[in-house]
Amino acid sequence: MPRFEVVTLGNGDAFTESRFNTAFLLRCDGATLAVDCPDRYRAVLKAASAASGLALRVEDVDDLLLTHLHGDHVNGLEAVGFLKALVLKKRPRLWTTPEVAGEIWERRLGAAMGRLWDGSRFVERRMEDYFDVRVLDWGAPNAIGPFEVLLRRTIHHLPTCALRIRAAGRTWGYSCDTAFDPGLVEWLSAADLIHHETNHGPAHTPYASLAALPRPLRTRMRLVHVPDGFDAAASAIRVAEAGEMEEV
Ligand SMILES: [Zn+2]
Repeated sequence: MPRFEVVTLGNGDAFTESRFNTAFLLRCDGATLAVDCPDRYRAVLKAASAASGLALRVEDVDDLLLTHLHGDHVNGLEAVGFLKALVLKKRPRLWTTPEVAGEIWERRLGAAMGRLWDGSRFVERRMEDYFDVRVLDWGAPNAIGPFEVLLRRTIHHLPTCALRIRAAGRTWGYSCDTAFDPGLVEWLSAADLIHHETNHGPAHTPYASLAALPRPLRTRMRLVHVPDGFDAAASAIRVAEAGEMEEV
């Protein structure tokens, strides 16, 4: 029976000076699915490899799922896209919501990736020269290799998806960025292992709201997207560390 493994690549927020941004690698039966793509992605993978003992390389990441367009979740895409296209001669599949798919080139990547100097002239480049964009369905299960992916809208500044992903008979849940949403917590509670964000501000979930959840749920929950200075030792919910691999 294959195992469904979740590797936490970072547990920090957008402002962190001491952590990597929150992102994950999901692994099952030889397949890898990256969830979000933060800055310095190769350094992130190298650090997670050292911490976990796993060989995590950008060369092996050919499926990327983007949750939303905030920089701490997508800033690595430009460099990964250039590396894949220009050096590795590959076109990763980019799985995302209709909202992100509709904006990512025009409003984020196009300004930096839309024109290349080939040594003698400028050449125009489009999204499809770098990425094979696959639009996910909000209302039905989406198959990505061995992973069956369900989406749910969160309460956040931008259109953002929470995830419930099933593989090898087990289910992983991820809140992604969201204000505290009891309906989302209920939806995630169907999962065997849940990574939930916590941070300050109206568009994030206060730690106290999660600490008040029933203990059996908290036991299956890990915290990510924590602010610097968060007291992990005093937390009623364990903080997932960068480079930590857990079997779902
Ligand atoms: Zn966000």
